[in-house]
Amino acid sequence: MDYLFTDEQKMIQELARKIAEEKVQPVAAEYDQSQEFPWEIMQILAQSDLFAIFVPQEYGGTGGGVLDLCITTEELSRACAGIAVCYAASALGTFPIILFGNEEQKKKYLPDLASGKKIAAFALTEPEAGSDASAIKTTAKKEGKYYILNGTKHFITNGGEAATYTVIAMTDKTKGARGASAFIVEKGTPGFTFGKKEEKLGIRASVTKELIFTDCKIPQENLLSREGMGFIVTMKTFDLSRPGVAAQAVGIAQGALDLAVKYAKERQQFGKSISTFQGIQFMLADMATETEAARSLVYSVARMVDAGNTNVAKESAMAKLFASDVAMKVSTDAVQIFGGYGYMKDYPVEKYMRDAKITQIYEGTNQIQRNIIALQLIKEMAR
Ligand SMILES: Cc1cc2nc3c(=O)[nH]c(=O)nc-3n(C[C@H](O)[C@H](O)[C@H](O)COP(=O)(O)OP(=O)(O)OC[C@H]3O[C@@H](n4cnc5c(N)ncnc54)[C@H](O)[C@@H]3O)c2cc1C
Repeated sequence: MDYLFTDEQKMIQELARKIAEEKVQPVAAEYDQSQEFPWEIMQILAQSDLFAIFVPQEYGGTGGGVLDLCITTEELSRACAGIAVCYAASALGTFPIILFGNEEQKKKYLPDLASGKKIAAFALTEPEAGSDASAIKTTAKKEGKYYILNGTKHFITNGGEAATYTVIAMTDKTKGARGASAFIVEKGTPGFTFGKKEEKLGIRASVTKELIFTDCKIPQENLLSREGMGFIVTMKTFDLSRPGVAAQAVGIAQGALDLAVKYAKERQQFGKSISTFQGIQFMLADMATETEAARSLVYSVARMVDAGNTNVAKESAMAKLFASDVAMKVSTDAVQIFGGYGYMKDYPVEKYMRDAKITQIYEGTNQIQRNIIALQLIKEMAR
């Protein structure tokens, strides 16, 4: 399909694909095994200006948008979704500053994030607060010119590796969801430490850690927007980042499909290539069609966001929901096409199936995406 990219977007796609094929693919299995953070790849992405593409020009970026981020994330995920999410999660941690930061905050934090000198993370989830984010217990108490943070965040992508964190904490528990606020917290702040590193099923190149705040004193200048805006910051951030998760899913689906087509052509049974069997051909046809449909939806939503449309919660949720379900199905079918070999770690395809699962879970599970879509539909009908 021709998605009518601009010359710049074609260049970004070509560059990301080259890095994915030449630098990421060869080390994907190694990182999957070691679960080390892929700093060498992050440096290559930084040198290639790929952290700059979603940051405005005034703050050291190239002024691209969500579609550019989706193109890059998709290409990287085609080679390794774990490495891709280290990159994409930095965008997730950066978006709140782009969307809600004041001039001073933008000038202070964005240039280093755009250059890739530093990477970012976003911390909302807690042990008792996942889908129900309003149940967060981390508190930020105002004391003079500081906020004192106490609490634990868990399952945080880039935890410990990132230098800049957007953290959601309660400034006024009595106000429920309206009592949450967003803060920029720097690694190295006294009282900010890291806990358990998770052992995961997939995206194992990505580090997922606990963040622990114990009387962590941060300057009041690090409050993003106003007190009480924490969940607005979160929701508006997710509207921008969910197409990125969806793009990750499209990349996983495409990577698994590529492997399945190649293997189907090579594998001989009953004296011929299994690709000559209609049962296999129909699977491949469905996998390709579903992947393309997901890609079209992701690019459309990314274009809506880049065009300045701020009412995209439903569409962003649809892209994430649809593309992640496609990634799960296509990668599972790819394993099926490999037969018993697909189940073995000697072959690369099982990793795609393991990596696909997380796209149905994080940044809101797919049940929560369905809630968002349905609520919006009902709201629109009531108008
Ligand atoms: C690898 C990984 C990386 C992550 N990275 C980050 C990160 O960087 N930052 C961050 O803040 N968080 C991160 N998360 C957290 C992630 O967003 C949550 O795990 C997710 O939102 C689900 O929350 P939970 O795990 O507590 O599940 P729960 O909320 O306990 O859900 C359990 C089940 O109940 C279902 N459920 C819950 N509520 C409803 C409902 N109302 N209707 C229907 N079904 C429902 C869910 O869909 C799910 O199937 C990460 C998680 C993982 C696994």
